[in-house]
Amino acid sequence: MARLIDSGPGCPTPTPLRAATAAEARGLAYNDDVKAKTDHLYPMVNDFITPMEWPAVAPLVAAINDLKAEKNAVILAHNYMTPDIFRLVGDFRGDSLQLAREAANVDADIIIQAGVHFMAETSKILAPSKTVLISSLEAGCSLASSITGADVRLIKERYPDYPVVTYVNTTADVKAECHITCTSSNAAQVVEAVAKEWDTDTVVLVPDQYLAKNVAAQTNIRIITWPGACEVHELFSSDDVDALREAHPGVVILAHPECPPDVLEAADFAGSTAALANYVKDESPAKVVLLTECSMSDNVATENPGVDFVRPCNLCPHMKQITLENILDCLIEMKHEVTIEEPVRVRAQAAIDAMLALPKMANPLAFETGLKPMEIEVFSPS
Ligand code: SF4
Repeated sequence: MARLIDSGPGCPTPTPLRAATAAEARGLAYNDDVKAKTDHLYPMVNDFITPMEWPAVAPLVAAINDLKAEKNAVILAHNYMTPDIFRLVGDFRGDSLQLAREAANVDADIIIQAGVHFMAETSKILAPSKTVLISSLEAGCSLASSITGADVRLIKERYPDYPVVTYVNTTADVKAECHITCTSSNAAQVVEAVAKEWDTDTVVLVPDQYLAKNVAAQTNIRIITWPGACEVHELFSSDDVDALREAHPGVVILAHPECPPDVLEAADFAGSTAALANYVKDESPAKVVLLTECSMSDNVATENPGVDFVRPCNLCPHMKQITLENILDCLIEMKHEVTIEEPVRVRAQAAIDAMLALPKMANPLAFETGLKPMEIEVFSPS
């Protein structure tokens, strides 16, 4: 069940003790030089970091930004990073698709992925000549770990005539076995394009069964999926939507398509993190709730000060492995480098390139809400 309690801004916030200890342990202090480099940044996070905490956080921020310049490094920060990372040290910010495009084009020697491991792999796939680092090897993903390349080979054996689309939330091994990737911004577009190319009415879409069911409701394509799920989004239900409407009359409810279909049926709007952020910016609802990972609300709220956010606290334990402290250590020690065997990388790149070759959409696709949930075939290995 989702945690619907309104946690307020900045969950989880760094404690002064933790941050001060972290800076001191690295020989860093809040001095005039750090103040000069960071004072202008504080207004971006003053909802999340108190003035008392800031002298403990600022030295970490200054040190990271100095090292990035010195080593020609950039940080790609996913929407689910905490605001200290997202706003203060992230050079490029966005969802998986936006970050994948940046990784392919960025002019830097080193990419630090402030996100989870499959995202760092995607950057390495698209930027093989660059050093790609991730600051915690614990930053995995329940969805990515639900399926392997061997599983996809089994699917292809069972359904040799159907194209296999993989959500980007998968390992390089899985991407290498699939025909094309998709994101939550373009999943319906990819499914329809690949069905047309293969002249088929059936497409396999792995590994997120809920994304697949939500896509199936939007298209006439028959979809077969895999029993994977995101451990954050699968917790939401239509009962949560009802409870939010009762507790916050008039609230506009936005849902990510990794949520189960009954959530999209009951929500007011649905789409990728980029689509949700665009909706808030364009529509400026008086009060809104984002049914997705909790840092997303903090990051979108900063850019929309007139919007009142209800913030259910459902954090991704994998995303939260990434901290300012380990980003700094990663830059100092050049760890942990992400590597992929070249034959796997080349095949995975072909799947991503097939997606990137599709016409670029002006905006991420929204999912229609209010549709009845659809039952679709879920692949069973046995
Ligand atoms: S939010 Fe879900 S899909 Fe994203 S990294 Fe966490 S577990 Fe994986």
